Amino acid sequence: MLLLIPGPVQTRPEVRAVMGDDIAPWDDEFRAEYAAMRPRIVRIAGGTEGVDVALPLPGCGHMIVEAAVRTFVPAGGKLLVVRNGNYADRLVRLATEAGRVVVPLAGPDTEPMAPEKLAQALRENPDVSHVAVIVSETGSGIVNDPNILGPVIHAAGKRMICDAVSGFGALPFSLSEHPECDVVVFTSNKCLEALPGFGFAVAPIARLEASAGNAGSWLLDLHDVYRHAVVNGWGSFRFTPAVQALRAFRIAMDLYDAEGGQPARLARYARNRDVLYDGLVALGFTPYVERRHQGPIIVNVHQPRHANWDFRRFITLMKQRGVLISNFWNTETPTIRIACIGAITEDDMRFALRQIEATLAEMGVGVPAAA
Ligand SMILES: *Cc1c(COP(=O)(O)O)cnc(C)c1O
Repeated sequence: MLLLIPGPVQTRPEVRAVMGDDIAPWDDEFRAEYAAMRPRIVRIAGGTEGVDVALPLPGCGHMIVEAAVRTFVPAGGKLLVVRNGNYADRLVRLATEAGRVVVPLAGPDTEPMAPEKLAQALRENPDVSHVAVIVSETGSGIVNDPNILGPVIHAAGKRMICDAVSGFGALPFSLSEHPECDVVVFTSNKCLEALPGFGFAVAPIARLEASAGNAGSWLLDLHDVYRHAVVNGWGSFRFTPAVQALRAFRIAMDLYDAEGGQPARLARYARNRDVLYDGLVALGFTPYVERRHQGPIIVNVHQPRHANWDFRRFITLMKQRGVLISNFWNTETPTIRIACIGAITEDDMRFALRQIEATLAEMGVGVPAAA
């Protein structure tokens, strides 16, 4: 089956193979393996050893996002959320339920947040301490570039929380170049092409040292994760981790390095995106996001307006042809969403396009698909 979803993504067989081994997290050999992974993770985030640390947290991506909000925004503190998409909506909810005051800065989910709008919002809300940015908005596929928004946050004297989950490892980001950044978070199962089971935060030690007592949660306290490592060693865990998923993540990092790291991964995904985007346009689909705003992680097209169109049936027929895509959408209007990330190439995109064309014909929707 060809998985074309924005996580968990298609993985390589070498990554999946190690999931079959019975291993123990506290075993001395695994401790050493785990401790050696942490500086590699810091490097992928563009951090500096000795200045920044990598803090893994078992669980899904939303958990590491909530942990970041709780750890760095003090209880009752004000957080401005750049709100131009479905994943920003989720951040608004989890921050609000964690008792933080959220100031949403709304924008359409079809374009990146303009830096001037953010600057103005920060002038109007001087009591905001932090700004949360969803880098790659996994609902619509746009990118809010932290290299553009970060300097605005820095100039206003605020701190940045970067939800880089869906683009981390592919989109360029270097923590060392962002003095305003408290934390960047991501997961194992998106552009790093490993299996689900872990979220990661990379943060400056100085900011972690200043965050004691903020979280209001033992489980989601990154300061506690940090202190535990300082006291018990960087190969230790607080609680039972998804240990096989961590080892799979190491294999995935080996493959990431062998491919050429971030530039190579971005180049492959951008090619996937170009083949997919242009191919869907050629089939008659209307993209949800304009070409100039289209990021390399997912592509959405409007669903056809045709008497024979049936979204669920389309997804089922595609699956029968060996291509699995999302059976839901996270855009403001109904779309078909297809991911460009994972252990896939432009040939896979061409295969998917042929299956889309054949499925439309089978459904009697016709090509070009009227949007
Ligand atoms: C995938 C993703 C998450 C986390 O999703 P989970 O389902 O909790 O793993 C968070 N933010 C963004 C932008 C994402 O793409």
